[in-house]
Amino acid sequence: MDNHRYITLVEAAEAAAVRCSRWRFATADEVYDRNSLLGIAEIHDAENPTEEDSFYLVSPGGAIGFSDDGESIDWLFLPQNSTEDLPLTVKTQPVINFCATCGERALPGARFCGACGAKLC
Ligand SMILES: [Zn+2]
Repeated sequence: MDNHRYITLVEAAEAAAVRCSRWRFATADEVYDRNSLLGIAEIHDAENPTEEDSFYLVSPGGAIGFSDDGESIDWLFLPQNSTEDLPLTVKTQPVINFCATCGERALPGARFCGACGAKLC
């Protein structure tokens, strides 16, 4: 999972279309190709503006998931012949509070220690 958060279904569908060419809807037998997926996504986005905390995710295999709370994932579209193991929760990056090298407090989200320059992850 790259954990990239897509704000619209169209963006997620375009990303998924690079990884896969046919999908089925998770809760039905309908099958979509690239064009019908993008068509559905456009209609969906027009009818359902994304709310502030919600976003879409795309799995390495091209499955499209939706999260409305930033934690749980509903997988909406699955690659047609996928046996991918899809996570049901959003994995957040572990929070690193202290530098493992020098012990200084690290700034939130920092990738390198401000005191000694060591990489924090
Ligand atoms: Zn340090």
